[in-house]
Amino acid sequence: SDGRQPVIAGNWKMNGRMPGATATIADLAARLATRPGAACAVVICPPAPLLPVLREILGANSRIALGGQDCHAGTSGAHTGDVAAEMLADAGAAYCIVGHSERRADHGEDDRSVAAKAVAAHRAGLTAIVCVGETLAEREAGRALDIVAGQLDGSLPDGATPANTIIAYEPVWAIGTGRTPTTDDVAAMHRHMRAHIAKRDAALGDCRLLYGGSVKAANAAELMAVADVDGALVGGASLAVDDFWPIIETC
Ligand code: PEP
Repeated sequence: SDGRQPVIAGNWKMNGRMPGATATIADLAARLATRPGAACAVVICPPAPLLPVLREILGANSRIALGGQDCHAGTSGAHTGDVAAEMLADAGAAYCIVGHSERRADHGEDDRSVAAKAVAAHRAGLTAIVCVGETLAEREAGRALDIVAGQLDGSLPDGATPANTIIAYEPVWAIGTGRTPTTDDVAAMHRHMRAHIAKRDAALGDCRLLYGGSVKAANAAELMAVADVDGALVGGASLAVDDFWPIIETC
């Protein structure tokens, strides 16, 4: 990964109840303690109500960082049900996913609102994990590279840097389906993404580019070895430590 620290991020989505969630995080922390040389950053993005509880269990200087799954663009106000990036930071998050395809689909988020959320994450001192990815119809029409380039143009805000922004390529048709692109397709997409963002701003070309979509123990090593892949965003396989741990062990 050319000196870029790999990131293995778990997106728990709307999963995690007490006391299972606390047991999971404690188990993961204990396993990481047995492998002090692990080179990757490990991030867990639980449902927001769990953030302070998990932060408390991990302690302030844990090897495991926490992240939100979404944030509002504003700092406060009349936005029932929304959570500000500053509130995630208060609750112990250092990262925030923005623009996940489930948010884009379920909540009508477009590139413009995703960029505003990334700005909010940066304002709150969080590293934004900006998600992009084509649908199956777009891939089958041969438009995947163009669609993702357009999403990058629209979703990456001014002020994005390799320090405050991570990009996750998540083909919509690979999320939760057990299907993955070929390693050649992942390599082509990541090469294309890196060249595209570097064209906009040479420094941006050094952002970590994660692959996400049905990453599991059986395919993680192969996917993580692809050029320009700097880690993984993992959904289903991040929920149980026995599934997540082999993915961490790839880096
Ligand atoms: C995700 O939703 O970010 C994801 C990659 O899900 P899964 O690993 O379950 O495909």
